Amino acid sequence: MQILKGTPVSPGIVIGEAFLLDLEEYRMPRRAVEPEQIEQEVARFQTAVDAVVGEITEDVRRLKAAMPEDDLHKIFEGHAAIVNDLVPSVVDSIRKYRFTPEHAVSKRVRTIVKQLTSRDDPSGLAARFVVDFNDVEKRLLRALFGERGGLKGGANGKSVVFAKDLTPSQTIGLDRTKILGFVTEFGGRTSHTAILARAHGIPAVVGIADVTRDVSGGDTVIVDGTKGIVIVEPDGETLKKYRALEKNFISFERRTADEMRSQPSETRDGIAIALLANIERPEEAATARDYGAGGIGLFRTEFLYFDPRNLPTEKEQFEKYRQVLKSMDGRPVTIRALDIGADKEVSGITAQERNPFLGCRGIRLLFERMDLFRTQLRAILRASAFGKVRLMFPMVSTLDEIKQAKAIVADVREELDAEGVSFDPEMPVGIMIEVPSAAIAADILCTEAEFLSIGTNDLVQYVMAVDRVNEKIAPLYQPAHPAVLRLIRSVIDAGARAERPVSMCGEMSGDPLFTALLLGFGLRSFSAVPSALPEVKKVLRSVSIPEARQIAQDALALPDAHQVVEYLTEKTRRIIPELF
Ligand code: PEP
Ligand code: MG
Repeated sequence: MQILKGTPVSPGIVIGEAFLLDLEEYRMPRRAVEPEQIEQEVARFQTAVDAVVGEITEDVRRLKAAMPEDDLHKIFEGHAAIVNDLVPSVVDSIRKYRFTPEHAVSKRVRTIVKQLTSRDDPSGLAARFVVDFNDVEKRLLRALFGERGGLKGGANGKSVVFAKDLTPSQTIGLDRTKILGFVTEFGGRTSHTAILARAHGIPAVVGIADVTRDVSGGDTVIVDGTKGIVIVEPDGETLKKYRALEKNFISFERRTADEMRSQPSETRDGIAIALLANIERPEEAATARDYGAGGIGLFRTEFLYFDPRNLPTEKEQFEKYRQVLKSMDGRPVTIRALDIGADKEVSGITAQERNPFLGCRGIRLLFERMDLFRTQLRAILRASAFGKVRLMFPMVSTLDEIKQAKAIVADVREELDAEGVSFDPEMPVGIMIEVPSAAIAADILCTEAEFLSIGTNDLVQYVMAVDRVNEKIAPLYQPAHPAVLRLIRSVIDAGARAERPVSMCGEMSGDPLFTALLLGFGLRSFSAVPSALPEVKKVLRSVSIPEARQIAQDALALPDAHQVVEYLTEKTRRIIPELF
């Protein structure tokens, strides 16, 4: 049995057979076409073109239906244009050089790719086009060769797809009736893959290095897309546990959501707790409402930037933010300034660095890219006129950074003022606490930050010195480590002393295992993926603050993460036995 940890990008639990996506390049027949067969070959190519354009049109239709507010379908419209552009030159070389259509397509695409990659590409635009051309080439070759293996041909309804990465067209081709889930080596929360997986409701985990090497086709695998865990060849006991979880997942999730929706979010002794949602796309705000979120605690804005060819304009961003505010109907919405870098790469914006997690990411990158920063600030400020917006900065490590960022906000405010554009002059400006220096000096940062939100995903990796996407050291990624727990408690205490609201928006916040403990530390605001909120509410409604304090005290007295997890599991099992 092997347990692999990655980034959870689409929730749910599935058990199936590993299906390794065939990444082998198609072999090109180089034979020359007989002169009398030329027109036949041209016709065969034309049939393939029609099939591919039809396929793409269908993908565009499905995407528009699944995500009407979004621009993702434009990528595929671009692919259709590429296909049509290729036609004259490919037909020409079939006729002139008697190439087979396969060879002609491949040769033409390789030539274009070569031209694109030989240029300087500071914006990353050419690199994106290369991905598009390769994707189109694969589709055309698939149509010319006929379906051999691949996603549609080989998956059988029990398959969990394993791939190094999935192209947009492969991901859109995932058919829920054939594919149970997927796991990739690359990709992050903002990758196309992750975004589309959520739209399709397919449990998925990304960012597990070398997973296609570790897994063989036909292996039994468990994918826990909620926790980001993949278990290869599970032992009998684990399989039994996850079978029960898999069976229970949907019905339990639905039952808990129904049961909790109308219940107030308060502890057994009546202390009100804010339950907020983490979202990445505007349309998820509706889901957040459905799960009873009292607001948005973290709106990750990275998704807006995933296509470097179409960086969002101020107007586009403003509209997305306003859409969220409208969905949330007066409830608070915390918009986080762009947080890219490290695992969240955006070609053309993020740099290749030796230590990307310790590099130019989050607020550091925003200072480098003042154009992006100011555009986003203008959009957020303009949106603040339409609801309760809070602005949050990511990856802050010094007081100076907050001062500098606030000075830029003040400048943008003045600019808007001069233009007569309205905004909320009281919009709170706060920070993520996800770097140890910020956590340890939280009391100092509170002199400038109006609120804090603890980002445990990064905080745990920095405290433990464990890269959160490196599977080799995954067991050391321990949110329950005494050092992490002490630090979290000290941040909550610092916020309370400075009378600054403290929330938590890292994954820990949505894990019911930690709910009582965090309440005991004094946390009164939790922000998590919408589907996690009912379980958290169920736990918090079952404990009183004195009980939670006792749990926190007991947990802090334990010497290691394993014992803490064991202790909290025992406590939580009594409240939600279905989860353990
Ligand atoms: C975090 O680090 O906990 C967090 C919420 O930010 P992200 O996961 O987007 O890095
Ligand atoms: Mg973070």
